[in-house]
Amino acid sequence: MTRLQADVLVVGGGGSGLATAVRAAELGADVVLVEKNHELGGTSARAVGSVSASLTRFQRAKGIQDSLDEHFEDLGTLAGENVHRDNLALRRLYVENTGTTLEWLESLGIAFFGPMPEPPNRHPRMHNVLPNAGAYIHRLHRAGRKLGVRIVTDTRVEHLIREGGRVVGAECVAADGRRVTVRSKAVVLAAGDFSSSVELKTEHMGHDVARVEGVNPGSTGDGLRLGIEMGGRLLNADLALWGPEMRFVAPPRKLLLQMLPPVKALTACMQFALRFMPEGLLRPFIMAFATSYLAPTQDLYHAGAVLVNADGDRFTDETQKPWLDLPLQRDGVGYIVLDSRVAGNFREWPHFVSTAPGVAYAFIDDYRRNRKDIFHEARTVEELAAKIGVPPARLAAAVPSGEAPFIALGPVKSWIVMTDGGLATDESLRVLGPGDAPIPGLYAAGSNGQGGLILNGHGNHLGWAFVSGRLAAAAAVSEKAPATGVAR
Ligand SMILES: Cc1cc2nc3c(=O)[nH]c(=O)nc-3n(C[C@H](O)[C@H](O)[C@H](O)COP(=O)(O)OP(=O)(O)OC[C@H]3O[C@@H](n4cnc5c(N)ncnc54)[C@H](O)[C@@H]3O)c2cc1C
Repeated sequence: MTRLQADVLVVGGGGSGLATAVRAAELGADVVLVEKNHELGGTSARAVGSVSASLTRFQRAKGIQDSLDEHFEDLGTLAGENVHRDNLALRRLYVENTGTTLEWLESLGIAFFGPMPEPPNRHPRMHNVLPNAGAYIHRLHRAGRKLGVRIVTDTRVEHLIREGGRVVGAECVAADGRRVTVRSKAVVLAAGDFSSSVELKTEHMGHDVARVEGVNPGSTGDGLRLGIEMGGRLLNADLALWGPEMRFVAPPRKLLLQMLPPVKALTACMQFALRFMPEGLLRPFIMAFATSYLAPTQDLYHAGAVLVNADGDRFTDETQKPWLDLPLQRDGVGYIVLDSRVAGNFREWPHFVSTAPGVAYAFIDDYRRNRKDIFHEARTVEELAAKIGVPPARLAAAVPSGEAPFIALGPVKSWIVMTDGGLATDESLRVLGPGDAPIPGLYAAGSNGQGGLILNGHGNHLGWAFVSGRLAAAAAVSEKAPATGVAR
């Protein structure tokens, strides 16, 4: 048994947990961060990496005159039909802190380009990280180490410890079975969403959706469960901004861009190139940047493409909700098959094959050039069947006659990219218990602390992870209760 003591215990080492730990340490706290995986990063490391922010130096450099009120209102527009379910206090808190948080991330050595426009935002606010989302984790981790944050990986937080109505630490189990007890004045839950928890998905989204895999298998909703065990409750747990939806599988090997280290010389070159290079030259780069999980548009099916399963059969009306039926097929994978006439409709704006969330639109030729792993082309349907490994006769029966060459895009799978339910929190990110009273000693950040906030649009989930992490840290550090009993 290992015993640790700290001022602040952070549960989870993704974007929000690392931001919490670094900020708390900057404010003078002794911090322990516990991460269940061997690697830090969570979903944050898999993200495209955009953060939405207003009143930034990037906006000023482009002469963009933004305001907090406009940012606040635009988030309401983005929330669409769910706007009445939004937490307006947290929305206000969020917009008031995006600019300073971006500055703080830059001060840690994280580089951005942008901002890019994303209607209906009135002003460009989407700032994209360079060279990839791994930069957040790398830089925050480094800052945490320098500040003396104790990072314990391969260790899962199992239960929180409560004494006299106050949360005072957690019981954890290491991968080798060793038990670890951490005592602290405050605990910040930052353990990510529940897109891979069958139980929570079944409870809040129903059986059909529960079958659909989460993009990150580690997003098991542990932080939410820990908060609920202490008397917290989930808000907006039936909402998922992205999912279930169809996405192409990620490339088998990491692309060069995803492997680039976030060193200053490289990110400075990239910033320069992105400012001055013509778009044509940048397309392969942008495509690669956002390529990990590209979502094909439903317009393909309306134009005549069909969706077949791994046996070459059509199995659903693909213009309806194919993402609910695909998980029931063999291996849960499918291929989108189209002839050259249909493909010809997806060569240029506004007819794209996929959007790479907000960063770029990808057309059929982008796939032909840049995603050879999921782009298959043949002169006949039978030849195409051989290329994707399905029975030729069955594929021929499934695909309407058309013009050669024939194209198959895939494998495609159905995913829940993330869930939006978070614990009810106040504006200090304190987790609220019965009667909306704060649970002493317990805070939440990122997905865990989403508190009913609607984060539609691109760049707002990571934006919230960093904003809420910083704010939860400041509040947790001011927690006065003494930790009891255990030596350091
Ligand atoms: C493909 C993809 C692309 C995306 N792109 C963007 C984007 O460009 N912009 C944007 O704003 N948002 C994006 N998002 C969403 C965004 O990445 C997430 O909402 C955000 O990263 C959540 O951060 P977090 O800190 O709350 O959770 P995470 O980053 O998931 O961190 C949670 C951590 O807690 C750990 N953990 C879990 N349980 C325990 C436990 N019991 N004990 C200890 N540790 C535990 C996990 O292993 C994980 O490391 C994207 C999501 C996906 C899937």
